[in-house]
Amino acid sequence: MYRAPRGMQDILPDDQPAWQQLIALCEDIAKRYGYRRIDTPIVEATEVFLHGVGETTDVVEKEMYTFRDKGENALTLRPEFTAAICRAYLEHGMAAWPQPVKLYAIGPLFRYDRPQAGRYRQFHQFNVEAIGDADPSLDAEVIDLAGQLFQEAGLTDLDLVVNSIGDEHCRPAYVAALRDYYRRWQDLLCADCRARLERNPLRLLDCKNPTCLRLGEEAPRSLDYLCTPCAAHFQQLAAYLDRLGRRWRIDHRLVRGLDYYTRTVFEYQPTEGGAQSAVGGGGRYDGLIARLGGKPTPGIGFATGLERVLLNRRKAGREEPAPARPLVFVVAIGEETRVEAVALASRLRARGIPTAGPLLSRSPKAQFRQADASGARLAVVLGPEELAAGEATLQFLREDRPPQRVPLAELAPVLLASA
Ligand SMILES: [Zn+2]
Ligand SMILES: [Zn+2]
Repeated sequence: MYRAPRGMQDILPDDQPAWQQLIALCEDIAKRYGYRRIDTPIVEATEVFLHGVGETTDVVEKEMYTFRDKGENALTLRPEFTAAICRAYLEHGMAAWPQPVKLYAIGPLFRYDRPQAGRYRQFHQFNVEAIGDADPSLDAEVIDLAGQLFQEAGLTDLDLVVNSIGDEHCRPAYVAALRDYYRRWQDLLCADCRARLERNPLRLLDCKNPTCLRLGEEAPRSLDYLCTPCAAHFQQLAAYLDRLGRRWRIDHRLVRGLDYYTRTVFEYQPTEGGAQSAVGGGGRYDGLIARLGGKPTPGIGFATGLERVLLNRRKAGREEPAPARPLVFVVAIGEETRVEAVALASRLRARGIPTAGPLLSRSPKAQFRQADASGARLAVVLGPEELAAGEATLQFLREDRPPQRVPLAELAPVLLASA
């Protein structure tokens, strides 16, 4: 028997209402905050991610689905949106649009990661990007958008953690201090961290190994190394966040896993579970567009995994939205009604009425059973007698009401009125 690829899942009809509801919420929030939708291809030239995300990140080193197509082009299934959206920003000359350009995307992403609860190799993200403005009020807006989304999705037990990791002026001194610090403890580090120490010491701060975690607590803090403009940026962001009334705290170890972040980084983490299971996060990436070959252009973004949100909703005991049900089920009784029953169902659907049946391979009794199981409110019964009179019988499947004969011509309006 064939199975879906490891770490990838089918989203079955019963799961769809929760998905569709969450996607609709994401789109509504995006609209309220003034973000417009963009769809980029599922694959990009591999270099977009090599240069954009950074060659020493886990995503690029270990997790990308990279292949050559039949024309020998190096392509990668997108592991994240930001680099792809910045590529689109450059390709379509969005620098000439009014800034900031505020975009959102929803769709599947791919990372060859170890599958676990809420983590898949094909997963889905809602992602927003505000490109072309460095003001900290935009950082606050993006963080606020994320908080509003989680609040309305019913995730209330989340901690907002924020940090600033500086920019190209102040970060080198911080990275050097971090490297010096970790070198002293080199023998205690996990193998991954030892390998990353020289190339990318920032990444050691978010290692989940218990010893590395403890070392991280005592490590130099990026906020102590910020240059004056970066420090001012962070201070202003803090003032906005305080005024927005969203509970937040600083986490000195928060660096996020991607090389392109500058200054602000943030995450929403379950109060119980912490950093390992962040439901969403993001940050500023003022150097990314330049890395992709554009003029230096600031940007800030946020992404959340839809699977994570749905998992946390279920954990929080949130009610699932009801599955879609047909309004009516057409039941045909007798050979001579078959053709008319099929035409009747078609006419009702054309009028916008969700209609199931007729199931002409089944006996009337079996059709009624199916009508019941479908969750339809009404059965529209077409028997020889009804056919001769040009009528149908309405039977109420969920209410204690007597059946009702309705002329076929009036059926749609009557059904719409009872919907
Ligand atoms: Zn480690
Ligand atoms: Zn700085």
